[in-house]
Amino acid sequence: MRYCCVIGCSNANAKTECRDKTFFTFPLKNSQLLQVWLKNIGRQGFMPSCSSLICSDHFEENSYSTCRFTKRRLLKQEAVPIIFSKTPKQTPKVGLTSSATDGNNMQPDGTKQ
Ligand SMILES: [Zn+2]
Repeated sequence: MRYCCVIGCSNANAKTECRDKTFFTFPLKNSQLLQVWLKNIGRQGFMPSCSSLICSDHFEENSYSTCRFTKRRLLKQEAVPIIFSKTPKQTPKVGLTSSATDGNNMQPDGTKQ
């Protein structure tokens, strides 16, 4: 089982109650975007690996597109996690201006073996 790495979030990809959630890996290849994610998550010194996950609870609905084949949620390339239960009223965190994006979506990696 792999857990969402957000502090205070105990969602995990193998939990039954998390069936409807989607788990995403970090944008490790996009260091600019990755910095924004890490800043928003606020975990000091946290360095995500390719197996680190963040769940769909932390993204706004318009951060996703739906795969027309699998109907699974895909994270838009420029999406950043901005919803954290500990800070619900916090002003939205900064996003990225789409400069280096080419329209490819990142693949969620929560349920893949
Ligand atoms: Zn989470």
